[in-house]
Amino acid sequence: MSASAPIYLDYNATTPPAEEVIAAMAEFMRSSYGNPSSTHALGQAAKQALGQARVSVAKLLGASPAEVVFTSGATEANQLAIMGSVMQGPAKRHLIVSAVEHPSVIAQADRWEAAGGAVTRIGVDGEGRIDLAALAAALRSDTALVSVMWVNNETGVISPVAEIAALTQAAGVRLHVDATQAVGRIPVGFAASGIDLLSCSAHKLYGPKGVGALVVRKGVSLVPQLPGHQERTRRGGTENAPGIVGFGVAAALAAERMAEQGAIATLRDRFEAALLARVPATRITAASAPRVANTSNLRFDTLDAEAVLNKLDRAGICASSGSACTAGGTEPSHVLIAMGRGREEALAALRISLGRHTTAEHIDRTIEALTQIVSPRLERAA
Ligand code: PMP
Repeated sequence: MSASAPIYLDYNATTPPAEEVIAAMAEFMRSSYGNPSSTHALGQAAKQALGQARVSVAKLLGASPAEVVFTSGATEANQLAIMGSVMQGPAKRHLIVSAVEHPSVIAQADRWEAAGGAVTRIGVDGEGRIDLAALAAALRSDTALVSVMWVNNETGVISPVAEIAALTQAAGVRLHVDATQAVGRIPVGFAASGIDLLSCSAHKLYGPKGVGALVVRKGVSLVPQLPGHQERTRRGGTENAPGIVGFGVAAALAAERMAEQGAIATLRDRFEAALLARVPATRITAASAPRVANTSNLRFDTLDAEAVLNKLDRAGICASSGSACTAGGTEPSHVLIAMGRGREEALAALRISLGRHTTAEHIDRTIEALTQIVSPRLERAA
């Protein structure tokens, strides 16, 4: 990255595709453009490449290749998991989600409720930790699915997935976990996890956009949302073969490079410690909850985030408010509201998310820029 290139600190929104991913996709598009459903040589070559990618993604997730269903991303994987479960029949029409889910899950829950289904939304505490007692109490004999995220995209808070799986297994209820922000950052181990359905997305782990997967445990049935013969009838439509190939390469790299999370955590901690020392109004969100290494959600008292982000952008630093999916809107983050923050506090939240290419220099320049942007404004407000 040259000195004038932007400093990218929005890895939770998306990651830059790895060079290896770009090269593999370009080569595949040139040489293996057959339809994987075609029986001729070019079709079969494409089908074989999909098989290799499936093995690589399954390996990263600790699943078996036959359990991997490729989708257009985590939004679609979430839809397939949720709608595919609640639509199975009249006996089980109850859905449980947490209040801090990604908008793609919340939208499906709202849609199911509007269609006459039953939905229970489980709250979180001030640190974003799911209320396990409320979850246990909400489980019913007609519960079709519990859907919770593994890692929150705004705060980086890690859910106690093993405890949640113990609860759902004891109740005989199916569990879906949106692992989009977990995969590549913490070990997933699908086989022994007690999870029935797991969503992920390639573009959060240095793969291409528009491709992801739902891992479907053997024996778990779903109502397809896009009927068709592909993906063993679980997801129709000609496969995004170049995207899937890129996902496979990204997954193999992610498995190799898991250890980089240690260095990322060091940079994130340096960022937070420096701001706390230099700007006393700094408030770190969920500082005492278990968090992934790369995410820092913070605010400077109630200083509006939009103005700070615009200034940062002009200084060549790309960060985010809350989540990218609500960026540009003036609505406060539903995640921070669920954590008990007031509207002004929620509108003050910035999300800095680090990744593979983040350097100490990036972090130091960001600390300097933020200090210069917020300090005079805080003084004026005082
Ligand atoms: N779930 C979570 C937790 C996410 O962070 C995202 C991406 N912002 C999604 C789902 C949606 O993923 P995709 O962009 O692949 O549809």
